[in-house]
Amino acid sequence: MSAEIIDGRKVAELIRNSVREDVEQWVEKGNRPPFLQVILVGDDPASIVYTGTKSKACKEVGIDSNTMVLQDTISAIELKQIIQDFNQDDSVDGILVQTPLPSHLSKYDVIETIDYRKDVDGFHPMNVGRLSLDQPCFRSCTPAGVMELFKHYSIPVKSKHAVVVGASDIVGSPMAVMLSRENTTGKATTTICNKYTRDLTAHTINADILIVAAGQPHLIKPEMVKEGAVVIDVGINRIADETTEKGYKLVGDVDFEGVKKKASWITPVPGGVGPMTVAMLMKNTLLAAKKSLYPG
Ligand code: NAD
Repeated sequence: MSAEIIDGRKVAELIRNSVREDVEQWVEKGNRPPFLQVILVGDDPASIVYTGTKSKACKEVGIDSNTMVLQDTISAIELKQIIQDFNQDDSVDGILVQTPLPSHLSKYDVIETIDYRKDVDGFHPMNVGRLSLDQPCFRSCTPAGVMELFKHYSIPVKSKHAVVVGASDIVGSPMAVMLSRENTTGKATTTICNKYTRDLTAHTINADILIVAAGQPHLIKPEMVKEGAVVIDVGINRIADETTEKGYKLVGDVDFEGVKKKASWITPVPGGVGPMTVAMLMKNTLLAAKKSLYPG
């Protein structure tokens, strides 16, 4: 058996195309294009790449964006004042603060400063809380992207046993909430594992749907996976590889070659969940501009 490959690049492109068409219609009706304000604190190389990818994606779908680059010495008070100014600015629809932040800044404190109606990352406690309550909200882009993949490929989730490996604020926890709530795409029986889980295999082996977001290269081996499982690999890890020009390659948290022989569906890394995250951000920014979630 060899798993069907879930093509995140293709699905993300479909989503971006649909956002582009919606943006065009929105502008044709006399509205200004949606606007995403990105804030980058410091010069973390990965964050520079991520913010660059986001601004390129905005351009492709007709969303205007700006990246404000701030010194990593900025104080919490100064940063929060800048965010508050963007909160007040009616020409700004979405605000995104790229993480990680320098250690003197609390990400919770900073994110809580963003107006939840502009929190297109879905990290503000209001959006996290509403997600838990199964209420309309901005949903964290990576897990929302995974749910879109299930929808696109008509992979059933309802009543399945879903196991999420990883319990972070931005991926694992909201993923488990989306899977377990009794909304249109959830309704799964969900187990969530973290680094303190004693016997990981005892859980993963029972998963009909296994979602891995641990940041541990090749953590999941074939013997940990049930025959016929759907395996979603969220992990993106750089490992040294002298045969490549850059000297490294990207691998997921799943031993793709081994696990694909047992799974029914599997996402590759790269080209699986990654492109979905940015596509969902575009979708959220359009929702923010239209005030679809929070009309008031
Ligand atoms: P994180 O470090 O914040 O959280 C990792 C989680 O995994 C923690 O809850 C930890 O307890 C758990 N964990 C670690 N080792 C484990 C183990 N051996 N068994 C069980 N649980 C374990 O990471 P994150 O931000 O959630 O990201 C996870 C991975 O997903 C990273 O590789 C990251 O690069 C990737 N990521 C990808 C996307 C995307 O768009 N595809 C987006 C965000 C993160």
